[in-house]
Amino acid sequence: MLTARNVTKNYSNLPILKGVDITVGKGEIVTIVGSSGAGKSTLLHILGTLDAPTTGEIWLNDVNLTGLKGDALADFRNRHIGFIFQFHHLLPEFSAFENVCIPGFIAGTRKSQVREKALFLLETLGLKDRLDNKPNQLSGGEQQRVAVARALINNPDVVMADEPTGNLDSRNAYELHRLFLELRDKLQQTFIIVTHNEELAPMSDRQLVMKDGRII
Ligand code: ADP
Ligand code: ADP
Repeated sequence: MLTARNVTKNYSNLPILKGVDITVGKGEIVTIVGSSGAGKSTLLHILGTLDAPTTGEIWLNDVNLTGLKGDALADFRNRHIGFIFQFHHLLPEFSAFENVCIPGFIAGTRKSQVREKALFLLETLGLKDRLDNKPNQLSGGEQQRVAVARALINNPDVVMADEPTGNLDSRNAYELHRLFLELRDKLQQTFIIVTHNEELAPMSDRQLVMKDGRII
């Protein structure tokens, strides 16, 4: 479903990614692991179109993402790719429910349909009693689950997660990984996850180990 072909990335002529090939299938949970500075975040950002490769191509189904620019790229990204970060990046002045709805409204989906989906996701993630809470009224685990619901609102083909458990205690980190597995099983949701968590990475379907700009 997602393919990266011979992806390289240079920062000021310094090679950071040195030729990466990846194929990820639908419903697969792939973790990217490896030491700090190996290029994991750089790769994830490129796979998620947040950054462009120096050379190489990224395909999502039959779309060449490296050919998309400007508004077309932003629109494609919002509709097809979900993101979860280490810090939840929820908008503080909006409720949990509103935070989840916003990317759906931006995509131009019918408002009633967006609200229905947001309700379904928040209920599925155990947040039915938290709909009207602002982010600062939620625990760390709850904030991250709201961020997961927001990432799923537009039925993305793939969710990119960069250290999603990095700010959680071990119980909440474990629960979040269980949730990823459940979403894979129930919704055939695909995830690509950069993680340092050596206990949780083995729960994924496949671990890609990066070292010095390559998958080894
Ligand atoms: P990881 O996620 O595996 O820790 P990163 O992808 O964050 O690694 O970084 C890989 C290398 O690229 C590091 O040496 C980092 O300093 C460098 N790097 C990352 N982003 C930039 C940037 N915007 N400009 C210059 N160098 C960068
Ligand atoms: P967790 O084990 O997920 O970290 P916490 O111990 O932080 O949970 O929170 C327990 C409960 O208290 C949660 O249901 C959360 O919604 C609620 N809570 C935490 N912080 C606040 C707050 N600042 N205002 C209102 N409710 C809060």
